[in-house]
Amino acid sequence: MSSMIVPLNDLGRYTALKSVHLAAEATKVLESGHYVLGNHVSSFERAFAEYCGVNHCIGVANGTDALELALRGCGIEAGDGVLVCANAAMYATTAVLAIGAIPVFADIDAHGLMTTATLTAAIANANVPLRAVVVTHLYGRLASMSQIMETARTNNLRVVEDCAQAHGARTPEGRVAGSWGDAAAFSFYPTKNLGAIGDAGAVLSNDDEVEMRVRQLRQYGWTRKYHNAIAGGRNSRLDELQAAFLSTLLPDLDSRNDRRRGIAREYSSRIVHSAIKVPMAIDCSFVAHLYVVHTAGRSSLASHLAESGIATDVHYPTPDYRQPVFGTRFAEVSLPMTEMACAQALTLPCFPELTDQECEMVIDACNTWEPA
Ligand SMILES: *Cc1c(COP(=O)(O)O)cnc(C)c1O
Repeated sequence: MSSMIVPLNDLGRYTALKSVHLAAEATKVLESGHYVLGNHVSSFERAFAEYCGVNHCIGVANGTDALELALRGCGIEAGDGVLVCANAAMYATTAVLAIGAIPVFADIDAHGLMTTATLTAAIANANVPLRAVVVTHLYGRLASMSQIMETARTNNLRVVEDCAQAHGARTPEGRVAGSWGDAAAFSFYPTKNLGAIGDAGAVLSNDDEVEMRVRQLRQYGWTRKYHNAIAGGRNSRLDELQAAFLSTLLPDLDSRNDRRRGIAREYSSRIVHSAIKVPMAIDCSFVAHLYVVHTAGRSSLASHLAESGIATDVHYPTPDYRQPVFGTRFAEVSLPMTEMACAQALTLPCFPELTDQECEMVIDACNTWEPA
């Protein structure tokens, strides 16, 4: 069978359910005569800050800009060392490079996350002055933020959380992703747990100074209209349409995260193949943005699933420090857990509108795989 029947994701299923509401929001924006950084943006900023339990939210154009502006807002400049993990798709590294800062790579744990141990090891090995760390809550799983904050403070590092995959992930006590760091970056790219109908992003911060700087940086670096007093500015504004859509979709975030977790729980309890390692601890600290298993037989499993009509993908295949853009710049960097994850990770379909029947097909197909 060559045509896929279970998609990795299908955004149209959710949009179809919301189309009446989205169209009504679009009409309001059209009639308002105000299309960029207006009332819809301010009201989404307030709603999302409140949802995350953080003082300030600044809407920006996308998640990568959010990372860059968050770092700049924290005072990171060209030449500063910034610790990042290398097992995503260059997001944090791209933001660091855009500033002219220097990425310093830390390894990960079995969940794909930075820990105090991997952070401490990276700090010990670094040969540039370190100013900040970007902590990525990869796949929608909260990193151990209170411990990481302690290590970061001890080493005088500013902390930016990358929450682009972790909207609404929280501790059992209810503390939400994005509320620990000096700043946090969110993407609302359509596939994210809270997604716009186009590109959008935000920076969150409890720090008034970071907030002010990011508001200035997102609009040319104006400290007031037509007055540029700070460096590093650009145009990275959020538009009214996307903000209106996001405000309409935000109230669904928790229930859709619950559904994602429900699928993940089914998979993790019922995929019982000895050669497939499934993620454990499916609780409120995990919002199942991506459901990623690990296996030494990745290409064989992916082919078997494809033959069963199930789409898969690899998040992510190449460590940042091995990307061709770097040539031999990081040739001496080698992080064993990162490299194992890049070699073994395979993403299964997991999105809120996946049906129970599709979920069963995925479980059956995994359990009937015969590794080559
Ligand atoms: C998607 C993503 C980003 C980048 O967001 P864009 O809006 O695509 O720029 C950054 N970090 C992570 C972890 C992401 O998943």
